[in-house]
Amino acid sequence: MTRKELLYEGKAKRVYGTDDPTRCIIEFKDDATAFNGVKKGTIADKGVMNNEMSSYLFAMLAAAGVANHFIQRLSDREMLVRRVHIIPLEVIVRNIVAGSMSKRLGIAEGARLATPVIELSYKNDELGDPLVNEDHIRALGAATDAEVADLRRLALEVNALLKERFAAAGITLVDFKLEFGRADGAILLADEISPDTCRFWDSATGKKLDKDRFRRDLGGVEEGYHEVLRRLLAGRTQ
Ligand code: UDP
Repeated sequence: MTRKELLYEGKAKRVYGTDDPTRCIIEFKDDATAFNGVKKGTIADKGVMNNEMSSYLFAMLAAAGVANHFIQRLSDREMLVRRVHIIPLEVIVRNIVAGSMSKRLGIAEGARLATPVIELSYKNDELGDPLVNEDHIRALGAATDAEVADLRRLALEVNALLKERFAAAGITLVDFKLEFGRADGAILLADEISPDTCRFWDSATGKKLDKDRFRRDLGGVEEGYHEVLRRLLAGRTQ
């Protein structure tokens, strides 16, 4: 499968067409941004690590019955995926309070949630990805009510699977962001699952092993990403 025209370039990835109109190639970059692009930098080999982790997790989720866009990892930085129309919503799942939820609601970072909290935000850089509810989503025409119900159900299913898998690797899945796409009338999980899009805390020490090391200038950013990948792949059963 060869790479053709550049379809889209985002902060951390490029998406290319292929000679098959139903498939795309995602290339993972080392560029990192935070705070809606205000903070910029690079994380050495982030693209390689995020590609490897996302490929592994998408394959695991597919085996567990969660339909997703992943087809095959093509190279260090490239993944072959089904072409989808991305639904312009970010679906955030939280098990422990952190980041914007802590700030917005005044709840201490680290507070455990009795049941997972799902937040939906409208994918729009100019607006800073604002939080939206079902009424806003309907007003925007971003997704139907039935699709939103599907996104919530799928997000909780992914959460249960990932939480268990990371726990087995000694990592607490604090929160994460998912994106979904439409393809042939079905909803597929898409985008990536990596330390760029998840918060991971070492279960024993609480040490942050994700993009917060970059966002908050904690140092050891590459080491954090590498540690999550190493532990995950060390316990690989498939
Ligand atoms: N997240 C993401 N992309 C975004 C916003 C959030 O991947 O544009 C992820 C983030 O890495 C974290 C979770 O979603 O794992 C919740 O993020 P939060 O709303 O706390 O925002 P942040 O503190 O990252 O600005």
